Amino acid sequence: MLADYLLKRLGEARHVMVLTGAGMSAESGIPTFRDTEKGMCAEFRAEDLATPEAFQTNPARVWRWYEERRAKIRSARPHAGHQALVVLESLVPELSVITQNVDGLHQLAGSRNVTELHGNIMRSKCHITGRSISADWLAGSSQGAPQSPYVSHGFARPDVVWFGEMLPREALQQAMDAAVHCDFCISAGTTSLVQPAASLPLMAQEHGASLIEINPLETPLSPHADQCLRGAASEILRTIVGQLESWKRDADHGPQL
Ligand code: NAD
Repeated sequence: MLADYLLKRLGEARHVMVLTGAGMSAESGIPTFRDTEKGMCAEFRAEDLATPEAFQTNPARVWRWYEERRAKIRSARPHAGHQALVVLESLVPELSVITQNVDGLHQLAGSRNVTELHGNIMRSKCHITGRSISADWLAGSSQGAPQSPYVSHGFARPDVVWFGEMLPREALQQAMDAAVHCDFCISAGTTSLVQPAASLPLMAQEHGASLIEINPLETPLSPHADQCLRGAASEILRTIVGQLESWKRDADHGPQL
């Protein structure tokens, strides 16, 4: 449950930023990278495949791994936490969802203002030129990494940010703008280890925002948060949005000065 003073700040906030990580999608059946029991690290560590070096060494293997991830994501559906953020968008003047996830579940749920910091797994691009490659071009390709349409010795790769790569400049700028301007920040389902995303909630706090964390486990962000809500994102986000709806109803029906 969100503390009363934070509920009031959320109710009065003009701009809310929500930063989400892999834990936000866990309840939709998409494992986090660090979820060793049922995670995709079972055969290979994600850190060993989601890199430019791994792709250079064995494009076909990396492409196959991503094909498996795509298949899993295609069958995934948003959960109550994603839906709660859609409702939240209708309750506050401005909501920015900044996600490290590449699965598109926030948009599928109906969130309108989503910034994808790490790209989107359903898109592909040329690994040499970075130019976007259409699904039609890829449709005819077989098992391995498909040939790029732009360079004879180039391949298609997923349009996601790999370990060691820069974030898309525009997305990072949007995220930093949201961090600087928001007055309430929610960090949900992220280890707060992957930079620069991990710095965004602290940047928001430095600029005066209240900060809460939603995660079953302690993270490096926890000591900085005004409140840590320990548990699953679906349940906690639903509760917070329910609290906010009640708060707004009470505020609307209160005495008018
Ligand atoms: P992570 O895998 O390192 O950590 C996930 C975090 O979520 C952990 O702190 C865990 O305690 C928490 N968590 C687990 N279940 C949760 C739940 N039900 N509710 C709330 N929190 C929960 O993920 P990360 O820190 O976001 O960083 C890893 C990178 O891997 C990301 O940048 C992302 O791009 C990528 N990734 C994306 C997806 C996806 O698109 N769904 C999946 C795996 C990894």
